[in-house]
Amino acid sequence: MKHSRVAIVGAGINGVMAAWALLERGYEVSLFEALRPMHATSRASSKMLHGGLRYLEQAQFGLVREALLERHWWLSQQTGLAAPLQLFIPCYRKTGRNAWLIRAGTLLYDLLALGSKMPMSRRHDASQVMQAIPGLRSEGLVGAISYWDASMDDEALGLWALAQLQERGLKLHKGCRVERLFDDGRIETERGVERFDHLVNAAGPWSHRLLERSALESPYDLLAVRGSHLVVDRPLRAGCLFQQHDGRVVFYLPYKGCALLGTTEVAVTSEDPSDAIKASQREIDELIELHNRYVSPRIEPREIIQTMAGLRPLVVDRNQSAKSTRSISRESVLLTHGKIVSLLGGKWTTARKQGEQIALAVAATSAPSE
Ligand SMILES: Cc1cc2nc3c(=O)[nH]c(=O)nc-3n(C[C@H](O)[C@H](O)[C@H](O)COP(=O)(O)OP(=O)(O)OC[C@H]3O[C@@H](n4cnc5c(N)ncnc54)[C@H](O)[C@@H]3O)c2cc1C
Repeated sequence: MKHSRVAIVGAGINGVMAAWALLERGYEVSLFEALRPMHATSRASSKMLHGGLRYLEQAQFGLVREALLERHWWLSQQTGLAAPLQLFIPCYRKTGRNAWLIRAGTLLYDLLALGSKMPMSRRHDASQVMQAIPGLRSEGLVGAISYWDASMDDEALGLWALAQLQERGLKLHKGCRVERLFDDGRIETERGVERFDHLVNAAGPWSHRLLERSALESPYDLLAVRGSHLVVDRPLRAGCLFQQHDGRVVFYLPYKGCALLGTTEVAVTSEDPSDAIKASQREIDELIELHNRYVSPRIEPREIIQTMAGLRPLVVDRNQSAKSTRSISRESVLLTHGKIVSLLGGKWTTARKQGEQIALAVAATSAPSE
């Protein structure tokens, strides 16, 4: 039996998990990557496999439940590259969200995670949270709520998935930039034009640029928001969430024997996946200042051993004007142009689910002509 041939653009976690779903369904899959697999957004994340506690504020219960199921799936693969992590939300007098509101949110989070065998969320008094997060500011601290999510080595976990696929026959073309897609299944790369039965555009924050270069219209814009992290040479046992004045939260997480602090949110443009995405000095200062507000001793510049930055693609409906990046839905959107399925947006945690939706959309593109 002849298998349908699919070309996927982009070897970030979404391209990899689209390949996963398509190979499972018997497609012959080629994956085209401009640089190296997992070099871009998918290795610059906050390294959390999570449901997204804060989406509960927007009543996105279905989205949170789905992501929690996906968190469970990644953990159940037992790769040794992801593990449950306890996260503390310190509550200060007159700052941030009300402790009862947070408690209600974490209880709901526990409920939505039922079946995933994670410990339940808890309340803690100030001394307990100070023990868990050494150096935490005690002034005004009334206690904390802790809940559980999972942390991962994002790059290594994506490469683990990719290695499984290569064993199952995935053809990987790295260092091969795709110039243009055609809705009849042709794909133009630096190496020439080739025809496939289906095309998948999983080029992450650049998927919209690829549509533009291919003269394909979209009812959505992709707004790229740079998020940066600092790796600080300080060991940390548990994770912590710092609440910002504007409602944002910043993670302070254990990471490879150090602490990972982030993220920022800066609207930017990037024309090309090979553009260097770097944390600006202003973002570095902002994160240091935030840390120093909550934790002592202060971070010394020599303690910053790495910075990481990635572009979060936010999907904006052209018919709706968004007021702030946080008010924009971060759910993924699938678009179809003839034989091309494009993914806009999407989270790391839910990449397997997004891959399955892509596979369904690919199957649907072949329905009318067969
Ligand atoms: C700061 C930050 C923190 C985040 N934290 C989390 C988190 O903790 N948990 C979570 O679930 N999600 C998180 N996310 C979201 C998550 O990281 C992304 O949704 C996900 O990594 C996107 O993966 P992707 O495969 O779509 O994109 P990418 O990883 O960017 O991959 C796209 C790939 O396409 C390639 N490409 C682009 N154009 C072409 C072309 N023309 N030809 C060939 N190849 C091309 C690029 O080189 C790149 O490798 C975070 C995002 C950011 C920015």
